[in-house]
Amino acid sequence: MRFVRGLSCMGCGQIYEPSPTRYLCDRCGPKTRLDVLFDYEKIKKIYSREKLEQKKEAGLWRYLPLLPVDPDKVETGLKVGGTPVYESSRLGRKLGLEKIIIKDEGLNPTGSLKDRPSALAVVKAREAGAEIISCSSTGNAASSLAGNAAAGGMQAVIFVPRRAPAGKLAQLQIYGALVISVQGSYGDAYALSDQAIEKYGWYNRNAGINPYLVEGKKTATLELMEQLQWEAPDWIVLTVGDGCTIAGAGKALHDLKSLGYIQKIPRLLGVQAAGCAPITRAWRDKTELEPCSENSLADSIAVGAPRNWQKAVRAIEDTEGNMINVEDEEILEMMVLLGRSCGVFGEPAGVGGLAGVRRARESGLIGKKDTVAVIITGNGLKDIENAKEAAGGAYSLKPEIDEVENILIREGLR
Ligand SMILES: *Cc1c(COP(=O)(O)O)cnc(C)c1O
Ligand SMILES: [Zn+2]
Repeated sequence: MRFVRGLSCMGCGQIYEPSPTRYLCDRCGPKTRLDVLFDYEKIKKIYSREKLEQKKEAGLWRYLPLLPVDPDKVETGLKVGGTPVYESSRLGRKLGLEKIIIKDEGLNPTGSLKDRPSALAVVKAREAGAEIISCSSTGNAASSLAGNAAAGGMQAVIFVPRRAPAGKLAQLQIYGALVISVQGSYGDAYALSDQAIEKYGWYNRNAGINPYLVEGKKTATLELMEQLQWEAPDWIVLTVGDGCTIAGAGKALHDLKSLGYIQKIPRLLGVQAAGCAPITRAWRDKTELEPCSENSLADSIAVGAPRNWQKAVRAIEDTEGNMINVEDEEILEMMVLLGRSCGVFGEPAGVGGLAGVRRARESGLIGKKDTVAVIITGNGLKDIENAKEAAGGAYSLKPEIDEVENILIREGLR
């Protein structure tokens, strides 16, 4: 916390002491959010791109001076971050781009970008002296919290909506979380978790209100920029549910610009599912958020009442970015395209960004020569049902070589 100046309210500007359990502004309450403020001048004195490059260990703790934690409370738990980036000309050709980079966040320890805020939350809980840490989630926040809590010797209590995919639920059980499956929507699960957290004094890992968690999410973009040798792409593309992930990307770019590590700010492209796109609407119409129903198979971004929409909208505006909606069918197509062109298997919300890129190329928003970095936010193994739907089944045949021959001919492989 050496470099944190305080927490400031997005609504009224009030500054608060950065205690681990300061989640909201006393005056504005849940209507608005707090931001973590850093002292960049102080950070510049001890931290530089060169010093960073000398560090051997990959992962989110590389960026410790830019994280709102007490360094003494950081214990190495799971190896979070350090995920690969790939440049793929095959994928680029399919999308009409000269240069596309993907970052596979599905290779985090529990299979999604959510490991970053969850690892940070475990440290904050330790700072707060809490033994139980809780959240409500459509899946990945929960499974990553369960895994990171287990690695840190803490108990997780998770509230999940009924529709969470089986892979994510299985992770929770294996990591030993107490799982409370709420008969209702994500909104209902969220409200119940809020009540329980308040009543029992648990640490709150709901990224929609806990201001520290966006700082964990930002490390995906810090790392991406370091991997690109600080050469900013024209666009960074992410899917948007609650809004914290893209808010984290915006914060990372703000940090790097303030420190002078990058000159140009990439534009953020936020992608929502057409069946649940309240943040796109609020951004486009410049209105307050209007909650909507949750009609998308991309469960991780089907958030009808997002909690961090203001920070998401601000990140888009600050970077002169854009928002795009995509249909579920396009998302399934991208699961297949990414798998077949890059060997990377993403869950629906994980690959949604690619569908947004295709639309943005068609509309001319993204030009052929623009460099585009797409963050694949979660692993496809979490959601096998949708993968099977996207990719189709296998041939079943008698154990005879002639049958093999027929299939090879049908598939054009002979
Ligand atoms: C959580 C999540 C997102 C969206 O992040 P928000 O902070 O909710 O906007 C996107 N993809 C995956 C795989 C996720 O788990
Ligand atoms: Zn306020």
